Amino acid sequence: MKREVLTGVPVSPGLARGRARLIGLPRLPGAPETIAETEVETELLRLEEALATARGELADLRRRLSGALAHELGDFFDAHALLLEDPELVQGLFDLVRKARMSARAALKVQRDRLAEIFAGIEDPYLRSRFEDVEHVIARVLAWLHRAELGEEASPRAGEGEVVVAETLPPAELAHFAEQGVRAVITEQGSPLSHAAILARSLRLPMVVQARGALAAIGEGDLLLVDAAAGQIVVNPEAADLSAFERALRRNQREERRLLRLRDAPCRTRDGIAIELLANAESLAEVEAALAHGAAGIGLYRTEFLFLREDRLPDEEEQFEAYRAVLRAACGRPVTFRTLDLGADKAEGSVLALPSEENPALGLRGLRRSLSEPEQFAAQLRAVIRAAELGPARVLLPMVTTAGEFAAARRLHQQLLAKLSVPAEKPVPLGAMIEVPAAAIAPEAILALADFAAIGSNDLMQYLLAADRGHDRLAGLFEPTEPAVVRTLARLIAACARRRRPVTLCGELAADTRFTALLIALGLRALSAHPRALPAIKERIRELDTRKLQKLRPRLLRAAHRESVEKLLAAL
Ligand code: PEP
Ligand code: MG
Repeated sequence: MKREVLTGVPVSPGLARGRARLIGLPRLPGAPETIAETEVETELLRLEEALATARGELADLRRRLSGALAHELGDFFDAHALLLEDPELVQGLFDLVRKARMSARAALKVQRDRLAEIFAGIEDPYLRSRFEDVEHVIARVLAWLHRAELGEEASPRAGEGEVVVAETLPPAELAHFAEQGVRAVITEQGSPLSHAAILARSLRLPMVVQARGALAAIGEGDLLLVDAAAGQIVVNPEAADLSAFERALRRNQREERRLLRLRDAPCRTRDGIAIELLANAESLAEVEAALAHGAAGIGLYRTEFLFLREDRLPDEEEQFEAYRAVLRAACGRPVTFRTLDLGADKAEGSVLALPSEENPALGLRGLRRSLSEPEQFAAQLRAVIRAAELGPARVLLPMVTTAGEFAAARRLHQQLLAKLSVPAEKPVPLGAMIEVPAAAIAPEAILALADFAAIGSNDLMQYLLAADRGHDRLAGLFEPTEPAVVRTLARLIAACARRRRPVTLCGELAADTRFTALLIALGLRALSAHPRALPAIKERIRELDTRKLQKLRPRLLRAAHRESVEKLLAAL
């Protein structure tokens, strides 16, 4: 077997070794295929069935994916499901079969080419690139037609330990393969900005795109070595490749072990200032991972995932059991349960679906929604308060905008504590998530009512910079070194200190060690990040000296440009 080295564009780093699993998409016919008049009815039925199966597959995938995955993928499913309902696309297909006597495959080709032309004429490069969605939906329908011809039932499968090689891979399939335990994904097409690439990164699934000629060069079952950080694939490796790969693997593992050794090391700066390192979690497995990576507790437990997974609303008892399980898994460490942070976007397709909103990020989200559903809200608060018997629990309210909102929630919390006869020496503190500019700019009245605060930097930056946090092409705007972000954070942290309210930062920013020094310089003493990020953050914290950072603070606050902030941080 011939050794070959292929290169592509790295989109999600990691090393992987496995047998190739080729996922070939059936191709659309080159020349128009016509059918006889007598075949029209059968062909229409086949088309109907293919469309129904494609819709069913999407719904099924959506149901089966849980937790963060469902959250990440919601938009893709919705876009694809919408396309399958699009009257112009669907009616057009039926008309082509009925009136032009085309085969279903040929009709798909005509519709695809028509849409390709429309998309090619779109000026905005992002919107133009969404033609990818059309391709994926058409491929899904075509795959069913193809399987039906061959008499096959199931959609393509890849097993544990395999490396998937495909021309292109829709995000839903990628998630599906990740669930089945594939080690890496290589595609001939695709871009680092594609939704599949974004998803691979968040799933920590190594992925290389634009590996031209991969399907021709790689045979089914070939052994592959993938270095997804370098974008390199060795097909049918020789002994020297294998040993180089083993060395690289050991190097990576050594680095991980080295960092993990820090698990029990004190989280203090060089000058002895303690920084509290907590973890974000949304499942029991993540609570366990948090402890394994040295978390002092759970700084943010996103409860909405518990709700989104279900096909009905969990009642108070079910929630109570779920929260108890989390507290049990946390082994006495504090857990901050965030109440439902749902809006029209997150809840779509779930039992909590609301009427869709024009602008869900600015809609009935988080606490606003909880206050509009008092029974549901009270059930959740009661469940946490009751579970708190088992361990230290706190309640965090998302999207607090005004002190009035917080006061309303506080009153309910107070009543429930009294009704449930919670002893004063075992309080269940109530905190405010500060992620709306109004609350960040004038936090005093909210802090006066809150026991603690948590900064949601993901949303706070989205609203401050007016940049959708999920928008691939606005990622460049999402910089915590922007003076507006630096100053807002600094003032907010100072306001918490004046009021003596503990404050944690729990957005993605907490996990990025390039900015740990900035956050400590701005006065932050508690961070909450995803479990695997904790050892590296601790390592960074242990290198820092708060006296030096304190001196830097006025210059960080005066900086007029992002570049000036970056320069100051680089000099550390
Ligand atoms: C945030 O907004 O920073 C945050 C931590 O919450 P979420 O990402 O769930 O909105
Ligand atoms: Mg948020």
